[in-house]
Amino acid sequence: MNLYGGQGNKLIEELEALPGIGTKSAQRLAFHLIGMPTEKVERIANTMIEARRNVRYCSKCCTLTDREVCPVCADPKRDQSVIMVVETPRDLAAYEKTGRYTGVYHVLHGAISPMLGIGPGDIKLKELITRLEGDVKEVIIATNSSLEGETTAMYISKLVKPTGIKVTRIASGVPVGGDLEYIDEVTLLRALEGRVEL
Ligand code: ZN
Repeated sequence: MNLYGGQGNKLIEELEALPGIGTKSAQRLAFHLIGMPTEKVERIANTMIEARRNVRYCSKCCTLTDREVCPVCADPKRDQSVIMVVETPRDLAAYEKTGRYTGVYHVLHGAISPMLGIGPGDIKLKELITRLEGDVKEVIIATNSSLEGETTAMYISKLVKPTGIKVTRIASGVPVGGDLEYIDEVTLLRALEGRVEL
């Protein structure tokens, strides 16, 4: 229905297509944007365009960065032979906040989910396998404890084991289905320290 004019409807449709935004939120955001001073809307739009243009995947760990190699991978004090595999850049940020992890990461950008039709080829697994050809001593699997996270952990463990590299899984204690970014630092550290070999 063309209730708000073609342009207004188009804006609502575009916003609605974003994750986590339903029709009502899209309408609220659209009305808010339309009521804002033009310069402010231009600033938001330009920030989005600039971020999209300049932010890319780190050539080593696949996290989001505006450099060729992210600050963690570029840090000479980090132990490049220990790789923690996480689902999202937000999970990486959660572990970085603990300030105690000294290895590097690998960001999958998702998890395997047969139900949602997300297979191993749809996440950054190929990139992980390539990294294992280097000098790697341990792969710590820190995917979520959801069904998808566990499926992904199993898959990775099967891939890594034949290489002889040590594979560990962070301890449970991280709530089932809980997103890592919402878990406090003490719980994260405990999960990391209590990791078990697979
Ligand atoms: Zn990196």
